[in-house]
Amino acid sequence: MLGVPPYSDTADGLYRAYLTPAYCAAQEAVAGWMAEAGMAVRRDPAANLVGRYEGGDPSAPILLIGSHLDSVRGAGRYDGPLGIMLGIEAVDALCRAGRRLPFAVEVIAFGDEEGSRFPAAMLSSRAVAGTLDRAALDIADADGVTLAAAGADIAHYLEAARPPGSVRAYFEAHIEQGPVLEAEGLAVGTVTGIAAQLRYRVTVSGTAGHAGTTAMDLRSDALAGAAEMICAIENLAQRDQSDLVATVGAIEVAPGAANVVPGRVDFSLDVRSGKGSRRDRVAAAILECCEDIARHRGLRLAYELLHDLPASPCDGRLMDLLDESVAAEGFPVRRLVSGAGHDAMIMASLAPTAMLFLRCAGGVSHNPAEQVDAADADIALRVIMRFLEKMADDATA
Ligand SMILES: [Zn+2]
Repeated sequence: MLGVPPYSDTADGLYRAYLTPAYCAAQEAVAGWMAEAGMAVRRDPAANLVGRYEGGDPSAPILLIGSHLDSVRGAGRYDGPLGIMLGIEAVDALCRAGRRLPFAVEVIAFGDEEGSRFPAAMLSSRAVAGTLDRAALDIADADGVTLAAAGADIAHYLEAARPPGSVRAYFEAHIEQGPVLEAEGLAVGTVTGIAAQLRYRVTVSGTAGHAGTTAMDLRSDALAGAAEMICAIENLAQRDQSDLVATVGAIEVAPGAANVVPGRVDFSLDVRSGKGSRRDRVAAAILECCEDIARHRGLRLAYELLHDLPASPCDGRLMDLLDESVAAEGFPVRRLVSGAGHDAMIMASLAPTAMLFLRCAGGVSHNPAEQVDAADADIALRVIMRFLEKMADDATA
């Protein structure tokens, strides 16, 4: 329903970016659904939409359920909004049953997760977690529209921060964006955490020369060397037989002409694992292997670390409660790591986090073909209702 105009900024494919007309229209619609589900609705200072369903003790730390309302270009309909809608549905069920939990439940629709408009990502959850700097708000989109001009209240933006201790837990349901659950015939899985990520720029330097006159045994071909490295990277990651993944996703060749032996290649290297130590071990092995290849071929290797994001483990107790909820609904328990980043990894600095993944067709996301079965969303909702009751039991125990 949120996949087309006015909820998309483009008529041809879904694109909904932070603070655009489509974003505001979608917020309006979601605000209406929140109100219908019995929530008091407000927009926080970071332009996130928040619905609150009061609990038995208004001063008790709240449970925050959330995901993001923005999308990438050419997006699917589930990445983000599904987690918000499941939160609203869960509150709606509580409200209709006249059930109050010992603590308030707030559903939050984050504004900027994907970073598809401004050169930043997860701005709005960083504001809520209290980890955002004032300087990070001094940004503009590709058209030169600043965050302030787009409608953000820069003067009060950081006041979206929740006080430490005010949030008992953050829960997010999200499509898996991978093929594991589908391959195993499972509707849902408990997320163990968000993978630690390293990203490098690797530069291979050789000697450019004429493609017609440089004899094969006299070449220092940077691209042939890089090709060998890329295959070795794939091989080292496969051989680890773990959750570790390594990707070369971008490559530039200089001078990049059909009649010149490549003199220089720059490529990206992205390494992720749920375990930081595993990521570091394999990344070190990869770089050592690339150095060996360069040495054998008479090439020079340089690399620069661009990102080092630590793993963001989900809370052990909350994972147990989610597992129990899945089992109580009669489904097998499956734990899996998230290779992709989510608002939950930002919220982890504020509160214990839990995530539930839903099966998506073919593991496809960030694509119009993104698909989640209604029956799976139903199962997820039942699991979430169990989870809420278990959290309530925990709070009163
Ligand atoms: Zn997402």
